[in-house]
Amino acid sequence: MVATTLNTSKSEEIFAGAQKLMPGGVSSPVRAFKSVGGQPIVFDRVKGAYIWDVDGNQYIDYVGTWGPAICGHAHPEVLNSLKEVLEKGTSFGAPCVLENILAEMVIDAVPSIEMVRFVNSGTEACMAVLRLMRAFTGRDKVIKFEGCYHGHADMFLVKAGSGVATLGLPDSPGVPKSVTSNTLTAPYNDLEAVKQLFADNPDQISGVILEPVVGNSGFITPDAGFLEGLRMITQENGALLVFDEVMTGFRIAYGGAQEKFNVTPDLTTLGKIIGGGLPVGAYGGRRDIMSMVAPSGPMYQAGTLSGNPLAMTAGIKTLELLHKPGTYEQLDKITKRLANGLLAVAKETGHAICGGQLSAMFGIFFNQGPVHNYDDAKKSDLTKFSKFHRGMLERGIYLAPSQFEAGFTSLAHTEEDIDKTLAAAKEVMSMI
Ligand SMILES: *Cc1c(COP(=O)(O)O)cnc(C)c1O
Repeated sequence: MVATTLNTSKSEEIFAGAQKLMPGGVSSPVRAFKSVGGQPIVFDRVKGAYIWDVDGNQYIDYVGTWGPAICGHAHPEVLNSLKEVLEKGTSFGAPCVLENILAEMVIDAVPSIEMVRFVNSGTEACMAVLRLMRAFTGRDKVIKFEGCYHGHADMFLVKAGSGVATLGLPDSPGVPKSVTSNTLTAPYNDLEAVKQLFADNPDQISGVILEPVVGNSGFITPDAGFLEGLRMITQENGALLVFDEVMTGFRIAYGGAQEKFNVTPDLTTLGKIIGGGLPVGAYGGRRDIMSMVAPSGPMYQAGTLSGNPLAMTAGIKTLELLHKPGTYEQLDKITKRLANGLLAVAKETGHAICGGQLSAMFGIFFNQGPVHNYDDAKKSDLTKFSKFHRGMLERGIYLAPSQFEAGFTSLAHTEEDIDKTLAAAKEVMSMI
């Protein structure tokens, strides 16, 4: 291990307390740093591209609260508009004009979306979209890909190694087999496997859901023709194509991965960035499908806090900032500098490495590569990743605490931040 020079005594004390109060000491599992060893640092505040922990250490942040902070943490314009609407109350449980504004922005931005419903998280959006897929097609089965994450609802908690695919074995106790038996899985980037599933389950599959660019088994891009192929196969089988753009929406491009790759799904889920750091999710798509959602149609889905003025405001302001000319060019430039730099440093220091970047999303695998799917990703050297992660943390660089998570940049990251990060990476990679 890299020697510990970082003073994190307050973090340790707080986290020890948290472990007695909450399972694993956290409100969401990856935060516990289990896969990289060591203890998580406890945050005190965030601003721009930076985090400060409770011991006063400063870090350059490449997690960005897992995506929402694409304009930089605590952006002054977002904070100011939040302060203004706060005075009018935090939740109405009734229609509010801010919903119209954000809905219009989302519909204008995302090619597939003609109507949208707001919810409170990406998980909720994916749960609802699956119900809608089933309601619209009258079919119960769904295809997802190994290593893709669509929130923690029962039906999606199947990652499925080889034989597990058809058996639909749940990844978690508490998920009944009867629920996951309708979840079919295929390796990412494998069109033949998808065709086979459709052939084996004629007229039973409601659709295919996927991350159009994967961020939840590390950063994996779709092979040329993969998204187009899925569009064709679903159409041929009377099934729906759903892009889970909770992570990629407004990140890969303003219109999401579907704009970037010019493939239009029937339905789309959103989250993270559209909430600008507050809890928001959304699902939307073709008007004829969305018209099935209650009270317009019979498919029930509701939410006490859905569309609340605070969350809508953070989303609106964030999209306004992103919509300015040049933002995605800037994000791409800065992220390219980082990803190319990391690959170069790793090669210079003799490590097997692969990875890359698309817009403001990046990732590296300690792995010869290429990585086309989760099985490829699993061949990475996880011990080396843990050492790398710890070494970077010691040098003030905060990376996602798992080899199987993508990295995120923001409009607040400067070339100087990137160069500091690369200098740290060079030191660490020379030692591990
Ligand atoms: C984060 C994420 C989700 C779940 O969103 P939550 O807001 O954490 O419930 C779903 N799908 C994808 C692709 C995600 O990245």
